[in-house]
Amino acid sequence: MGPPGSGKGTQASGIAKKLNVESVSTGDLFRSHQTRQTELGILAATYMERGEYVPDAVAIKIIMDWVVHPKRSKGFVLDGFPRTKTQAETLDKELCRYGGVDRVLLIDAPEVELVRRLTGRLSCKDCQATYHVDHNLSSNNRKCEKCEGRLYRRSDDNSIVAKKRIQLYRKETSSVVEHYREIGKLKEINGAEPMDTVAKNLLEAVE
Ligand code: AMP
Repeated sequence: MGPPGSGKGTQASGIAKKLNVESVSTGDLFRSHQTRQTELGILAATYMERGEYVPDAVAIKIIMDWVVHPKRSKGFVLDGFPRTKTQAETLDKELCRYGGVDRVLLIDAPEVELVRRLTGRLSCKDCQATYHVDHNLSSNNRKCEKCEGRLYRRSDDNSIVAKKRIQLYRKETSSVVEHYREIGKLKEINGAEPMDTVAKNLLEAVE
């Protein structure tokens, strides 16, 4: 978990690789539906463009369909879910026969840093890898270094919507953070540190 721009997407796929499990991002699932112009994608886009949460029923269905697949039975990493109390209750209930989630990793950083990262972010259309215009931008004509996919700026990464998304996270998702803190599953990681340090701290927190 973490606010938009905290680096949770990059870190979730990194940690999943190290643990040899799959990771999934609710935002990426919605964007993939949007690209394919499915009914769900068209619906989700109306919320995402405004920086609002997609309704719980839709977010829960898309993630639970992914979670219950037999190939995920040895574990998985969730990125960007749960974001509301209802989503957390549903997830806890679904996983209760496995003892619930193992760990909730919270990455946070100061707001100015979050906004700087979001407004300078470029994402790969194909593999969702992210870059920042200030540093690790591919010199290869704005193509993704991992898969050569096209880099683009997400429509919700402009400063107005980015700030709204951070505010919504602070308002709506803090009760989910508190819930996992109370049941002793939460580990907090400073997301303002260099990416490698964050990755190392996350792995330690899991192990
Ligand atoms: P992200 O890619 O994590 O920044 O998410 C992009 C957008 O997808 C968010 O601003 C929401 O509109 C939507 N979204 C992602 N995850 C959820 C969720 N768990 N519940 C509701 N909406 C979500």
